[in-house]
Amino acid sequence: MPLNPQRTIAELKELRAFTGDENGAQRVAFTPVWVKTRAWLKGKLASLPVETHTDAAGNFWATLPGESDRALLIGGHMDSVPNGGWLDGCLNVMAGVEILRRLNEQYKGRPPVTVRIVDWADEEGARFGKSLFGSSACSGKLDMAEARGLKDKQGITLPDALKAIGIDFEKVKDSGVELKNAAAYLELHIEQGPVLLDLDLPLGAVLGTFGVERHAVTFHGQAAHSGSTPMNRRKDAFLAAAKMSAESYEIARRSGNGVCTIGSCTTKPGIVTSVVEECRITLDQRHLDAKALAQMLKEAREASERFAKEGNVRVTWERIWQIEPRPFDPELIELCDAAIKETVPKLHRLPSGPLHDAAETCGAGVPTVMMFVQSLHGISHNKIEDTKEEHLELCVKAFDKLASKTIAWVAARR
Ligand SMILES: [Zn+2]
Repeated sequence: MPLNPQRTIAELKELRAFTGDENGAQRVAFTPVWVKTRAWLKGKLASLPVETHTDAAGNFWATLPGESDRALLIGGHMDSVPNGGWLDGCLNVMAGVEILRRLNEQYKGRPPVTVRIVDWADEEGARFGKSLFGSSACSGKLDMAEARGLKDKQGITLPDALKAIGIDFEKVKDSGVELKNAAAYLELHIEQGPVLLDLDLPLGAVLGTFGVERHAVTFHGQAAHSGSTPMNRRKDAFLAAAKMSAESYEIARRSGNGVCTIGSCTTKPGIVTSVVEECRITLDQRHLDAKALAQMLKEAREASERFAKEGNVRVTWERIWQIEPRPFDPELIELCDAAIKETVPKLHRLPSGPLHDAAETCGAGVPTVMMFVQSLHGISHNKIEDTKEEHLELCVKAFDKLASKTIAWVAARR
């Protein structure tokens, strides 16, 4: 039985048909549709000689034991955001299932190294606002105190939602044992951005996931009457924030491949007849290189001080969230390049702006790499998310080659 990428496409369509509606995919983690999705996935694996179980954090594992205990992991997530796309997360898992079928056939049920598929629980964080739940529990990096307090819109806490599906929140980090023999982690994903589309390339090797620095920057000035206050007497918090916006984008441009976003801006008192007393902006800065990210942050801080001084206002900073860059394994990136080169004429390497479960396996010290396939419209988390079928076929083929190369790599490293 050779690899059959057409079957992967057919299975993804089958999944879309029973887990989506006119607004898109509805496989939100821990909901009945998600539970149904898991059962369907198990059914797809039933004809293979694999051991399956759900770990302490709700991640689902299928294991094809090999000559060696050292394991190649292929990961993805069957959960989606509400009104999500048909490929985000599940393409990875279903490509993995197809590769498992091929390996099982080729090696008569006993590949040189153990091969495992993992469907991470609640990658999207759609319900509790916390992404990478299952994989961060498994990597040991989940902040238990923070996660314990998370609530959904109905006021249900994460521990209670987990209890309802048989998971004990206090024990989720026990899932870490799953990584004991992990020798490599591979993840295929739609790009979710326009980079490959703009280059007219179907596939790319991913260098790592961006580090993120997320801050609220607040300028404090003085409210004053908009008619009676001469321009030279104002302490205008908005003006400083406005200068800061333009400079932030300049800082990102100077950084090379960094990006930044000012995602919100609120003013007080926020009325048409008053100079702004307080202006709070949120600044999200990302870069693949830790030093470059630190430099972006330093420059932003200095700029804010400068504009505050110029405008006779004060500035305060508050960190909202931070994660360090997770550069992927250099040797696996080479293998990913090689697999792509054998499949399509042109290579491309790119960083990932979005976080993925791969960031967690990488953070846990498992050699990790991802492969991206082009996204049409450069759009995801939307029902219009799509990828050309010919590209889907190519990505399953290339990812399969990457799996073979990685098995050889793991076997040789014993
Ligand atoms: Zn995803």
